[in-house]
Amino acid sequence: MRIFDPHIHMTSRTTDDYRAMYAAGVRALVEPSFWLGQPRTSPASFHDYFDALLGWEPFRAAQYGIAHHCTLALNPKEANDPRCVPVLDDLPRYLVKDSVVAVGEIGYDSMTPAEDHALAAQLQLAADHGLPALVHTPHRDKLAGLRRTIDVVRESALDPEHVLLDHLNETTVKEAAGSGGWLGFSIYPDTKMDEDRMVAVLKAHGTDKVLVNSAADWGRSDPLKTRKVGDAMLAAGFGEDDVDKVLWRNPVAFYGLSGRLQLDVPPPADLHEGNSILRGGE
Ligand SMILES: [Zn+2]
Repeated sequence: MRIFDPHIHMTSRTTDDYRAMYAAGVRALVEPSFWLGQPRTSPASFHDYFDALLGWEPFRAAQYGIAHHCTLALNPKEANDPRCVPVLDDLPRYLVKDSVVAVGEIGYDSMTPAEDHALAAQLQLAADHGLPALVHTPHRDKLAGLRRTIDVVRESALDPEHVLLDHLNETTVKEAAGSGGWLGFSIYPDTKMDEDRMVAVLKAHGTDKVLVNSAADWGRSDPLKTRKVGDAMLAAGFGEDDVDKVLWRNPVAFYGLSGRLQLDVPPPADLHEGNSILRGGE
């Protein structure tokens, strides 16, 4: 089973996770920029983070045989912090980098006017740079948040077919599909979607334009949820081609809209002890 995790925050994960992901079949991933939990106090804090997503993290992933790309943006939560908003002016110089495959994650957190502004401005940046957009839908008030998101996308210069609407569930999948966008589902250990609910959505909705991600980060999450969905699909009677479509070909097609995917990372030379490059702090 070859797996492309289209949304995972590896900065918050260990090298053991990289090893386990490779063993489970993960060969590519996209790391969206997001909120680190600790509030940032200046655009310079974003610059260092963006540079880590462009430099250090792809290097680390490559040691484990995994192709790493990223999406960059001012995240929805920090769009409300005036200390962070000026990073919007710096994004153009980052969005031209080779491994940036979308603008994201953008969207709504609390649906404030400041979030309206950041979302519209960043959809425009995506259109200007020929990039698709990864749009997070809010965890609270999901359907209202999705509708407002779709309205803003419609008013933007970006083709709705170049938008991935993420964190969907049973209540939002139909409207999201109606917008023409791609459909992202985040599979979590204890809240929101789980693998059995995901299989039920796939049975009802089909596999077209559906992407499944672990959204693993610094919270309770599981970087192997993509594989677990693949196994649950097979157990429920889906074929291997269906699994390959959802877990590989769909994310390749969506992020391939950037024209920047590079998926030819060689297998790890040594997955055992002794990889001194990555032993921290030496
Ligand atoms: Zn995320």
